[in-house]
Amino acid sequence: MVSERMKGLGTARSVIRELFEYGKLRAAEIGPENVFDFSIGNPSVPAPAAVNETAIRLLREQPDLIHAYTSAQGAPEARQRFADSLNRRFGASYTADRLYLTVGAAASLCCVFNGLTCPGDEFIVFAPYFPEYKVFIEGAGAKMVLIPPEIEAFQIDFDAFEKAVTPHTKGVLINSPNNPSGVVYSKATLERLAAVLTEKSQAYGHPIYLISDEPYREIVYAGVEAPWVPHIYRDTIVCYSFSKSLSLPGERIGYVLVPKEVAEGDDVYAAVAGAGRSLGYVNAPSLFQQVTSLCCDMTSDINIYEENAKLFVSALREMGYHVVEPGGAFYLFPRSLEPDDVAFSERAKKLDLLVVPGSGFGAPGHVRVSYCVQPDTIRRSLPKFKALADSYK
Ligand code: PLP
Repeated sequence: MVSERMKGLGTARSVIRELFEYGKLRAAEIGPENVFDFSIGNPSVPAPAAVNETAIRLLREQPDLIHAYTSAQGAPEARQRFADSLNRRFGASYTADRLYLTVGAAASLCCVFNGLTCPGDEFIVFAPYFPEYKVFIEGAGAKMVLIPPEIEAFQIDFDAFEKAVTPHTKGVLINSPNNPSGVVYSKATLERLAAVLTEKSQAYGHPIYLISDEPYREIVYAGVEAPWVPHIYRDTIVCYSFSKSLSLPGERIGYVLVPKEVAEGDDVYAAVAGAGRSLGYVNAPSLFQQVTSLCCDMTSDINIYEENAKLFVSALREMGYHVVEPGGAFYLFPRSLEPDDVAFSERAKKLDLLVVPGSGFGAPGHVRVSYCVQPDTIRRSLPKFKALADSYK
């Protein structure tokens, strides 16, 4: 006998993975240049040279030490460097003892959900959303409450949101810049969100935490402001990752920040650390604790994503697709040309164009297009998008 839930999770492939695997098989059949795979969010630009150089230097200088266990919550000097960097950038005064280093944003989120959840707790998530959130929240024994998308701008439907906040609401999860819409929440949206949370926390007599999942924080386009969320709402817990900003998804490194000001902050940090312990997420990879903390003020060359976005948005709009302008990350979320996004994605697949149905992100009638690819791939894919649009005329 095994856990049915875990067996289900271990055997069911995500739609994204399924398309990605299909793309690889198809590429072997007809050549990779003929498959336009926009399914997965794997950064297409390499990590900065300094990342590899730092890793090599540390391996040479500290060949034994660098592989040793660190403190469960991460090496103090690495945490201090992250705190210093945040303080420089955001005018804050965070301390090393409020950072918990762990294996990417996924583990950061799991530590937070597991650390916060008491019986009966709920977490609110806004569609469109990263589908793993449901797995993480339910894995912590909590309930995910989904707010339908506001499809004109992919900001927040506040009427639906306010109705969904109840005494059971332990936290609200946001992700800006967003996967899959690419949209960045405006300051006005965040301020309104903060006002509702402040009012509801007072009304219900307990804090409602805002969990800010920020793996795309650095990937924000010119003229777009991505406000520092803890400055807008006090009870914010930040989950960060170097998977996208430094193009290091395989190295599994990120952190949770529980600012001192957060309500019951000592307990929250202790519970996050306890969850890390109980989940076996202690001691994030030692080499990359050091490497990322020494390189955390730099990013990969993310300009290419902005160029890709411009190219894609204008071309698709010209063909008649409806696309909300992305402000960052590396995803577009156009409307499918028929209400059934799964059927639309299947029709695209017949043209060797791989786009992910929006239903899995809680936003049917859309598809996700990951444009972390070479600009040439986008250019060559445009006739396929045109053929797809024409097939609906
Ligand atoms: N959150 C969002 C919105 C993501 O898009 C991803 C990965 O694509 C993650 C979390 C997980 O990131 P990590 O690789 O740091 O675990």
